[in-house]
Amino acid sequence: SIRQVWGRYRSIPIVYRIGAAFFLGSIVGLAVGEPVTVLEPLGDLFVRLLEMIVVPIIVFTLLMGIRELSPASLGKIGGQVVAIYAVTSMIAVTIGLVIANVIQPGEGLTLTDAEFEADEAPSFLEVFLGIVPENPIEAMATGDILATIFFVIVFGLALVLLREGTDEQSVAEGVETFFNMAEAGSKALFKVVWGIMEYGVIGIFALMAVAFAEAGVEVFSTFAMLALTLLIAVAIHVTVVYLGVMILVLTQQSPIAFLVGIKDALMTALSISSSSATLPVSMSNADDNLHVNEGIYSFSLPLGATINMDGTGMYLGIVAVFAANVVGASLTITEQVVVVAIAVLAGIGTAGVPSAGLILMTLVLTQVGLPVAVVGFIAGIDPLLDRLRTMTNVTGDLAVATLVAHWNGAVDFDRGVWASGDGTPAVA
Ligand code: ASP
Repeated sequence: SIRQVWGRYRSIPIVYRIGAAFFLGSIVGLAVGEPVTVLEPLGDLFVRLLEMIVVPIIVFTLLMGIRELSPASLGKIGGQVVAIYAVTSMIAVTIGLVIANVIQPGEGLTLTDAEFEADEAPSFLEVFLGIVPENPIEAMATGDILATIFFVIVFGLALVLLREGTDEQSVAEGVETFFNMAEAGSKALFKVVWGIMEYGVIGIFALMAVAFAEAGVEVFSTFAMLALTLLIAVAIHVTVVYLGVMILVLTQQSPIAFLVGIKDALMTALSISSSSATLPVSMSNADDNLHVNEGIYSFSLPLGATINMDGTGMYLGIVAVFAANVVGASLTITEQVVVVAIAVLAGIGTAGVPSAGLILMTLVLTQVGLPVAVVGFIAGIDPLLDRLRTMTNVTGDLAVATLVAHWNGAVDFDRGVWASGDGTPAVA
């Protein structure tokens, strides 16, 4: 009966169903081509559903996470998170540059002029001032993640201090009510995430079909070297830095368990090319599978989705070399160091949304005196490369959450994927 079929279907873990949808959608897109683009609204619906809950899930989860934190411990954890974000980003851009110098993507290609209007990236001063919202409601309404985090942390810490300092019963109760509501709100939204993921099977099929119908195979062949360079750089960064150093060596856990734990977030990032919109899923994976305490992931993940973009950074390095090649120039070592600095800093000010990398690219190319027209030239393949960058960005955020949680005794390695995984014993 239909109910049995539905039951069977539901008993398959969601990530397999989504994986199948991803694969089938890609094939259908390549095979059918243009007509398949009518499915676009089905894909957009999935992204909108996720975007719908990003701000509330950040606010509720952050408030719930702050409940047990003192300003001092938040400062310490925050410092650790930001420091690793910075170090890993620098390593990422450097790896990107090294691989690009070896492969030399773009050699033999000549620039055909393409128009591209990029939005301007904000200046560093604007970014830092912008962390403080003029109006917190506006920050939430416009999805300004950094400003939202800032306000909620200030408010949450004030609640914690109030709870400790008050002898008025009603105030103490009010504080608990705030925190209880945040906890309930966050738990409720995690339920919503899984409802959205059920629809995601259809949404992701549509997204992939449209992506491949639009990109086609010829973009691939023109930019094969560029794609290959990014692929190799990403593979090295993820395997060595995240899985090797951060999870296996520093955290002493199984990299496979880690990957199993974040599979839904990976699949989502790959499908929707936005680390911000993937947040609901990454937070849920950090909580349910990795058993990282909400005191850590509730702010490290939203922060990471905004400022930590290793995949994007390494791509910027690669594109700089690529751009030099297509115009027959080459980058000096000094220029490459400049690229590292700009690529890391530029990523901070730009939220993880689809094609954010294109905006940053303009900035990087201008700084080293390369033609911005290159951005228009490679815009055609960007929707495909964006997926890879976003997946790397999200993996980085989750690896940092796990490592910092480990340093602060805020992750339970006896549970979830770590303990049993899908048959994967923890290493330690
Ligand atoms: N789409 C990426 C992200 O959301 C940013 C980029 O364009 O590289 O993380």
